[in-house]
Amino acid sequence: MSGLDVLAPEHRRLFIGGQWTDAEDGGTFDVLDPADGSVLTPVADGTVADGTRALEAAVAAQHDWARTPARDRGEILRRAFELVASRSDDFAGLMSLEMGKTLKEAAGEVTYGNEFLRWYSEEAVRIHGRWMNAPAGGPRLLTIKKPVGPCLFVTPWNFPLAMGTRKIGPAIAAGCTMVVKPAQQTPLTMLALAATFAEAGLPDGVLNVVPTTSAKEVSAVIMADARLRKVSFTGSTGIGKTLVKQAADQLQRVSMELGGNAPFLVFDDADIAKAVDGAMIAKMRNMGEACTAANRFLVHTSVADEFAKSLADRMGALSLGRGQDDGTDVGPLIDEKAVESVTKLVDSAVEAGASVVVGGTAHGGPGFFYPPTVLVDVPHDAEINREEIFGPVAPITTFETEDEAVRMANDTEYGLSSYVFTRDFSRTIRLAEALEFGMVGVNTGLVSNPAAPFGGVKASGFGREGGFEGIEEYLDTTYVALTVD
Ligand code: NAP
Repeated sequence: MSGLDVLAPEHRRLFIGGQWTDAEDGGTFDVLDPADGSVLTPVADGTVADGTRALEAAVAAQHDWARTPARDRGEILRRAFELVASRSDDFAGLMSLEMGKTLKEAAGEVTYGNEFLRWYSEEAVRIHGRWMNAPAGGPRLLTIKKPVGPCLFVTPWNFPLAMGTRKIGPAIAAGCTMVVKPAQQTPLTMLALAATFAEAGLPDGVLNVVPTTSAKEVSAVIMADARLRKVSFTGSTGIGKTLVKQAADQLQRVSMELGGNAPFLVFDDADIAKAVDGAMIAKMRNMGEACTAANRFLVHTSVADEFAKSLADRMGALSLGRGQDDGTDVGPLIDEKAVESVTKLVDSAVEAGASVVVGGTAHGGPGFFYPPTVLVDVPHDAEINREEIFGPVAPITTFETEDEAVRMANDTEYGLSSYVFTRDFSRTIRLAEALEFGMVGVNTGLVSNPAAPFGGVKASGFGREGGFEGIEEYLDTTYVALTVD
């Protein structure tokens, strides 16, 4: 019905200049099913030469694309939005297969990710500069907004669609062309999106997709080329730092959506039932494999027992399984390494004095499963409170005063999202001002919204995706001084 065969052999190849092609050396790599580790399908493994070809295609398309009327760019985005919406089940099924998330979660991501196409289809026609008189009189000051030019997008595996559309939507609206390098665990969703954009009428070369196992080499050669003008990366802080250094050589503009270590603060005046509802979303969305995931639960001592018990009851009742199966609440983690890393953090928290209320031991396979876990009495300085867990584990640490809570919350190199549960209005304002994070969720476990500026500070990076701010990442300003006789 949808007209898109998401696993068609065609969509397991590179998409360059509007053509589906094999890798230059014919190489492929396997995409695995994280629910059992089996091979889902081979996919073309882009080489450095393929990366160069993709950049050439983006560069060749840039001139005409920048001059395509904004309304036309917006209409293509809108058509792509309609197409993705009409094949929402296909996209959700594909994402669930390659990433492991449940079909329900995947459908939620399709809705969320697709909204960036709709939002920026509307924003394309609202790009404008300004006109003003010089304060001292004389010249008129005019500004013009122009697309930055060809972009490189490197995306992670945890939200295979949305982490792409958050960049692709505004870039297309702004008139930029692009090369997308999806994560090697989850290239299929991005390839299906490329097929959908082609169907929506996107001109050849505007969007190129190069799956590869040579991310470092392919990105390096593309970024060494002065014609590339922008790099937008979503992924770990370590790789983000490498790319920022790499971008320095050609002084490319850079947006970095990096790791997080979100504090989830529950005050003694909070509605505890609502705080637990929020915690279930902030912790369990995407099996905890989200940069926005609540990483540290900081709970006032007077409500800590009630909160921990209620959260453990809810988390303990979730069932693990294959994302596509009915009744599955929690899918597998992405790979064996992820299970090992979560296991290590939980074990070290227990060694540091924490107690396990529920979960706490890996499933043992097949598949890369880790059970929902609640830990109490976690020392503030435990490793699990410093590292990004990226799994379904909720460590609870207590505090006595608001000052202590803020100090603990800010005691991290990261600054992406944070969550606050309180019914005190003044406290809400104080915390929104005091928390050193790009996003603060108040009495909610979900901050992501396509109409809002998503992004972090400190080691969580810089730049914003979504909202009015998101398109600015893809626009340069030319200032024109007009002398009037
Ligand atoms: P990652 O290891 O940094 O990988 C992200 C992407 O970078 C992948 O496509 C990867 O390719 C590529 N890559 C790896 N090394 C590279 C290099 N030297 N040069 C160029 N590209 C390179 O991160 P991940 O484990 O996939 O994702 C999890 C991280 O992403 C977490 O830290 C999470 O917090 C963060 N994240 C942040 C946001 C946000 O908006 N702030 C959103 C989602 C996730 P391969 O697949 O081939 O390794």
